[in-house]
Amino acid sequence: MAVKPDLRSLSSDKLYQYIASLGEKPFRARQIESWLWQKNCTDFSQMSDLPKSLRERISQDFAIHPVQVDQIQRSVDGTIKNAVRLPDGMVVESVLIPTDTRITACISSQVGCSLDCRFCATARLKRMRNLDPQEIYDQVLTIRQQAEYYLERPLTNIVFMGMGEPLLNYSNVLRAIDRITSPSGLGMSPKRITLSTVGIVKMIKTLADDNPGVKLAVSLHSAIEEVRSRIMPINRTNDLTSLTDALQYWYFKTRSKVTFEYVVWKNINDRDEDINALVKLCKKIPSKVNLIEYNAIGDPNFEQAEPERINAYLTALAHHGIVAKIRRSRGKDIDAACGQLANKNDVAPEIPKKRIPETL
Ligand code: SAH
Repeated sequence: MAVKPDLRSLSSDKLYQYIASLGEKPFRARQIESWLWQKNCTDFSQMSDLPKSLRERISQDFAIHPVQVDQIQRSVDGTIKNAVRLPDGMVVESVLIPTDTRITACISSQVGCSLDCRFCATARLKRMRNLDPQEIYDQVLTIRQQAEYYLERPLTNIVFMGMGEPLLNYSNVLRAIDRITSPSGLGMSPKRITLSTVGIVKMIKTLADDNPGVKLAVSLHSAIEEVRSRIMPINRTNDLTSLTDALQYWYFKTRSKVTFEYVVWKNINDRDEDINALVKLCKKIPSKVNLIEYNAIGDPNFEQAEPERINAYLTALAHHGIVAKIRRSRGKDIDAACGQLANKNDVAPEIPKKRIPETL
């Protein structure tokens, strides 16, 4: 028998239409939305203010398929990595990153990735499919519950920095953000959500037009066309000139500074001319720079630059009034750091499985 679609995959409009098609009043759709997105109900029989006949009727057409956390790995630094099993059996990863002031959920938007960035472990996984809005939402919900359960602290931030390219799954990502930020959903501020992109020019402009109020990060890694094209093939079709144009448009529309994510590698982008090119680019776009620690993925061509070269970046950027910080990696010991999400959990069955309690 075919698997029934998840009721949560319907947009709000479609849900209202569906309820109307059953001859029911709009307030029923409102009640259902509240069960689905505020009370996070996963079973129609618990929707106690709906008539039983209506619950049964809906369950003929739809089901609710929450994601399942198959495995939890905890790092010595407090980071938690989840292997998240989707209803069709595929697995993505999500990460809870605690610091003194924040708890951040790093979530995935696609199963695998199509982008082929040479330094990224996720790139080695084929892109299988886009995640549905509710699959994205469920990752946030799970981490929110884990933050409360394990750390007794609230989830404060969300970054789309897990597997996949959020701007290549645009409408589902936006629908998830809508549910996460809506007062009839999790009610989080969009300012606490950062969408990270490899630099899909056309979609950056679309996001600027739609302006859901989120922050934008761009994985830059080089401000020189030839270098960037070599390490990030997307640059061959979305080059720095058009990216600059899109990011200027982004700032014009949103007045929100862009964060550039940047790893410095030995003999790739650690020369003075690499630094100068970055400074020049940052002067054209209101931005700040996060210098990310490199997490080796077993390719000898990529090696973290000497601290002296990273300091040269910091000094030059500061000299030109550009805010730059070094971002230390978290969760390295469990392969949960930037660029390390590659479903290693699946191929390493010797890692003991710790199940999340039923109540989560
Ligand atoms: N596709 C989006 C979302 C992924 S975010 C994007 O590219 O922005 C993951 C971040 O980790 C990106 O900034 C990526 O460039 C960076 N990254 C990838 N591999 C890495 C590695 N081995 N070490 C450190 N950062 C890495």
